[in-house]
Amino acid sequence: MKAHDGLYIDGAWRPAAGGDVIEVVNPADEQVIGHVPAGTALDVDTAVRAARAALPAWAATPPAERAARLTGLRDILLARRDEIAETVTAELGSPPQFSQAVHAGVPIAVAGSYAELAASHSFEERAGNSTVLHEPIGVVGAITPWNYPLHQIVAKAAPALAAGCTLVLKPAEDTPLTAQLFAEAVHEAGVPAGVFNLVTGLGPVAGQALAEHPGIDMVSFTGSTAVGRQIGAVAGAAVKKVALELGGKSANVILPSADLAKAVNVGVANVMSNSGQTCSAWTRMLVHASRYDEAVELAATAAAKYAGRIGPVVNAKQQARVRGYIEQGVAEGARLVAGGPEAPRDRGYFVSPTVFADVTPEMTIAQEEIFGPVLSVLRYEDEEDALRIANGTVYGLAGAVWAGDEAEAVAFARRMDTGQVDINGGRFNPLAPFGGYKQSGVGRELGTHGLAEYLQTKSLQF
Ligand code: NAD
Repeated sequence: MKAHDGLYIDGAWRPAAGGDVIEVVNPADEQVIGHVPAGTALDVDTAVRAARAALPAWAATPPAERAARLTGLRDILLARRDEIAETVTAELGSPPQFSQAVHAGVPIAVAGSYAELAASHSFEERAGNSTVLHEPIGVVGAITPWNYPLHQIVAKAAPALAAGCTLVLKPAEDTPLTAQLFAEAVHEAGVPAGVFNLVTGLGPVAGQALAEHPGIDMVSFTGSTAVGRQIGAVAGAAVKKVALELGGKSANVILPSADLAKAVNVGVANVMSNSGQTCSAWTRMLVHASRYDEAVELAATAAAKYAGRIGPVVNAKQQARVRGYIEQGVAEGARLVAGGPEAPRDRGYFVSPTVFADVTPEMTIAQEEIFGPVLSVLRYEDEEDALRIANGTVYGLAGAVWAGDEAEAVAFARRMDTGQVDINGGRFNPLAPFGGYKQSGVGRELGTHGLAEYLQTKSLQF
């Protein structure tokens, strides 16, 4: 795998201040595939200075010109689609087809949506006797996770660039090669030097230095709730804008009138996709008592089909963590109907597609984000019970409702404390705002709501 031994700062690949490196490992076979610099606070400072110096000119660049750069960026990502898919497969272990369709396909669509929004968005509006200006917030510090390496980057970088912000990206240590490829694409697209900067490095070193840097106007973070809380505290103390996309424990509510087989099969596919490493995954399936046994059987059969087909989880630590949750589920009295804690292969960080039945709402596996291919099937007695269970976690990121009648599903969805609900399956929409209620986060990504995060308003009274 191609790996740069420098950091992309101020329009060029430059050596890091220190000599430490991060080893990049393919989680499917545990082979080292490359090394990247482990940037430090000094590198972060250099990158933030470059972003600050580039800000006035980029902020003053007409939106149409910024849109043209984003169109160029989208086209380059499209032209390099195979390379993106291969890189994500190498550092995340995803099956090649999934990398093509999702890891490459989704960010290309999102980059395209921001190329259009940058051109069509009203950065100025009238309100009574005022003109309201929507101005870039400034220099953004973006910190991203490994689960959808390119999507997580594009979901921050594209709206930030569209808004006229400059940024410094600190990507996840497990997937830095995709981030380097993105930096190459930004360069090729002719985005001016200093507008986008990449510092690879460790979270508690480079990530923390970025979040704490006084030269940053906003921190946009996606990852664990634990780190999000720390970043929120740092940003709060400095009175800085913060956007947090955190964990989830989303409910897939199957109402009695639903097409049960379809709802269960799509629900299992949703959880097994990306080996369960999706913050919006429907990890709790809620089924009415009258159809519970049937649903459990369908789910077990569906999950078994994923054995040997899903990729590994990202690293040994995540594998141990996920297996620990499976053991805890068994210890707390849930019934395993597919998979289990044993590693299915000797090599690679694989976890068996796992389904638990007889899960009760207070069990750890029904409350905490596992981030692995593990589904809990819970029983409910009536709609109020289903709602109580669905809303009964600290999270509120996503969810699903299935019913014979769409209006019935929508009525239930309106009562869910969560940021996004798929009705009878749903379909990905790059324009739909994505983000959390409750402890799933602060702010929204994608579409105009995602763009608005990177803007601040000024009103002129006449
Ligand atoms: P993490 O929160 O530790 O890492 C996310 C990003 O934050 C990475 O770039 C990391 O380097 C950086 N980071 C870590 N510590 C930091 C600090 N002190 N200051 C600034 N930046 C820091 O997440 P993880 O360890 O990779 O995954 C752990 C759990 O997080 C997962 O099991 C899952 O539950 C959750 N997670 C959620 C998402 C999501 O999309 N919401 C994505 C990945 C992981």
